[in-house]
Amino acid sequence: MPSLLEVRHLNVRYGGVRAVQDVGFTMKEGEWVALIGANGAGKSTTLNAISGVVSYDGDIVFEGVSLRKRKAESIVRTGIVQVPEGRRVFPGMSVLENLELGGYARRREGRMKRNMERVLDMFPRLRERSKQLAGTLSGGEQQMLALGRALMAEPKLMMLDEPSLGLAPLVIDQIFEALTQIRHQRVSILLVEQNAAKALEFADRCYLLETGRVVMSGTAEEMRKNPVVQEVYLGM
Ligand code: ATP
Repeated sequence: MPSLLEVRHLNVRYGGVRAVQDVGFTMKEGEWVALIGANGAGKSTTLNAISGVVSYDGDIVFEGVSLRKRKAESIVRTGIVQVPEGRRVFPGMSVLENLELGGYARRREGRMKRNMERVLDMFPRLRERSKQLAGTLSGGEQQMLALGRALMAEPKLMMLDEPSLGLAPLVIDQIFEALTQIRHQRVSILLVEQNAAKALEFADRCYLLETGRVVMSGTAEEMRKNPVVQEVYLGM
């Protein structure tokens, strides 16, 4: 089966800082892949390169087409949507308005209403609070809104940056439950997590980053059994 996403020899610099160094990985359609690693390992930067919001050397190929020369908005239209760290919902806008903005890139295709219903069916909490200002939602509800907003763009690949950050364990479970449903709708998932235990519980495969480089990769099961991963990242 051809790859959905291929990241080849990715290098990103911020001035003198080499944030990402020769990173390479692949994803197949329908896969759930996790990038794990400590603070500053280069995980967010990798997602930002794929989204087209930072410039890079190397190549990123999605469905056989290079994204190198594409701008962020055109990358969204190819079917790649990022859910940023810290959710970044628009606090002064209602839940529905936030969702409508998520569908903006697809506005000409006339599926806004259908997609909205789908999202509200998936997250009944958002339906109950549809007129509420996003800034007054709880952290977990804001994360659901961020997922819903991403779904409005009809992604083939959804990239998530630390969806569990700052949430209580029970709420984290709800978010991963929602991601499982999203995955069943044939959306591929690229997940960045510091919560390695959670990432390895759900992902199919995993890449471990340290100071900008991929230092280990394997199936989630292989990674869970690795003594280094157990000691350093799973606290066992
Ligand atoms: P975290 O989980 O803390 O976000 P991360 O693995 O996602 O960590 P990145 O955010 O990608 O790591 O950061 C990688 C490196 O690049 C770090 O050394 C960071 O300080 C640096 N960096 C990230 N963004 C910028 C920026 N806009 N300007 C300068 N340096 C940056």
